[in-house]
Amino acid sequence: MSETAGEAKAEVKQASKEVKESENVAEKYSAMTVSKNSEINMGELSSAFSAVPTHKPVKKQIQFVEEKQEFSRFPTKTGRRSLSRSISQSSTDSYSSAASYTDSSDDETSPRDKTQVNSKGSSDFCVKNIKQAEFGRREIEIAEQDMSALISLRKRAQSEKPLAGAKIVGCTHITAQTAVLIETLVALGAQCRWTACNIYSTQNEVAAALAERGVAVFAWKGESEDDFWWCIDCCVNTEGWQPNMILDDGGDLTHWVYKKYPNVFKKIRGIVEESVTGVHRLYQLSKAGKLCVPAMNVNDSVTKQKFDNLYCCRESILDGLKRTTDVMFGGKQVVVCGYGEVGKGCSAALKALGAVVYVTEIDPICALQACMDGFRVVKLNEVIRLVDVIITCTGNKNVVTKDQLDRMKNGCIVCNMGHSNTEIDVASLRTPELTWERVRSQVDHVIWPDGKRVILLAEGRLLNLSCSTVPTFVLSITATTQALALIELYNAPDGRYKQDVYLLPKKMDEYVASLHLATFDAHLTELTDEQAKYLGLNKNGPFKPNYYRY
Ligand code: NAD
Repeated sequence: MSETAGEAKAEVKQASKEVKESENVAEKYSAMTVSKNSEINMGELSSAFSAVPTHKPVKKQIQFVEEKQEFSRFPTKTGRRSLSRSISQSSTDSYSSAASYTDSSDDETSPRDKTQVNSKGSSDFCVKNIKQAEFGRREIEIAEQDMSALISLRKRAQSEKPLAGAKIVGCTHITAQTAVLIETLVALGAQCRWTACNIYSTQNEVAAALAERGVAVFAWKGESEDDFWWCIDCCVNTEGWQPNMILDDGGDLTHWVYKKYPNVFKKIRGIVEESVTGVHRLYQLSKAGKLCVPAMNVNDSVTKQKFDNLYCCRESILDGLKRTTDVMFGGKQVVVCGYGEVGKGCSAALKALGAVVYVTEIDPICALQACMDGFRVVKLNEVIRLVDVIITCTGNKNVVTKDQLDRMKNGCIVCNMGHSNTEIDVASLRTPELTWERVRSQVDHVIWPDGKRVILLAEGRLLNLSCSTVPTFVLSITATTQALALIELYNAPDGRYKQDVYLLPKKMDEYVASLHLATFDAHLTELTDEQAKYLGLNKNGPFKPNYYRY
């Protein structure tokens, strides 16, 4: 995992291509965001792309039903034709989603065995229960309130439909936030067919709401391995409809089309990929000379990496720990392994609540940052006997070993925030001498022969994905980036993008950020002519060179 992530990052630099700003969508849109009065002018946006029906916030109180997150306990349906290899890691470990508030597991019938029809008579979908659509709609409306940037993009649909003719097949977490993205793409003119990139993360009621609105969704929470590939295939392999764009999170959909439908793949105009894993797979294809389609690496956009990884984790680490353990953070001794974006977010949140935070790092630069931020940088072995909580955030493997698990103190909480579930050597704990006791959903006590207990969360999978929700606003930033990447690739004239992996142009990142500033009533300072000349910048940006690190 560390190798792949490292390679992908190195390749980002090599493969990223400068795109002439004057040619791209970002230029066209971003010029409208910085007004002459040095403010983000949403008025200009809305007058240029006036009134598109938006959903008025519903004032009804939502009654969340009992939350059940026994993700790994769903029965695997047997006896079906197996469509492919075993389920990919990215379909079980991914990080940009929220857990569902509802669970209709009372009904054990597989959605594949049901005939369901929406109110318009269409049965081109497969969800857990179409009757949950109304509840799902309310969830989507709540998400819309914190995703104003996408709603303002949607307003453009009134006068121009930049995605008219686009046939987008998508494979992402299916949550209320993704639904806002999907419905924005539809408002911009696209036809969409959608499936889930993770077998556990679908909000069933949201999938139902999308199906009710006519989006062909094939997803439910607790899919089996076979269901997962069946759903992907239903999205791609359909009579009279051929995708021309892909929006992927993890690369499974892309590889399905690439392998099973090479003729369809060749005709795709662009791929937008969100995850580290998916981006890495794209670079591998590109390196092998097999990528015949331009692709956008959204994962390495500043507006994804510096926001999703940092701010999302800063908030959701606390949520995940509280929901599972009710731990009090003040005065607790915590060690955070890895001081990258995720580690920085976790460390800051825990420090703010009064925890004593130690950091481990392999990289002297990140270690120095941790020191300057006021954390003690230690080797894990130095603190292993005294800490109350251990959090891994490295993207690496075997960061916490069996030997270290043996030496932890009684009651130590162990969890992971990185992509892969191999950061903690959980496999080594599955021995006859240790007893596993499931005490809550996603919480196991692993008991040593002398009675010592270690509290393992989510079996070493991503804590926030498995045990909490993630903030809508951060997802709005990522979703806006995805929407713009699709618009850019779909509208780009022939030749602008070759068969390679691209980073989004800097101006597009700046545009995404500017759209979100309005939420905070933030007022940007405008460069004077003299200042712009002095710095050698265009007054409308981009304001930083590509190598700037933020
Ligand atoms: P990053 O590369 O910025 O940071 C990882 C850090 O870990 C690096 O500084 C690296 O030097 C350090 N490291 C590597 N091996 C180590 C070891 N053995 N001991 C101590 N430190 C070590 O990456 P990031 O953006 O912080 O992401 C980290 C992981 O979290 C990735 O797997 C990523 O996919 C995942 N992620 C999770 C979420 C979430 O919501 N949970 C969000 C974004 C990313």
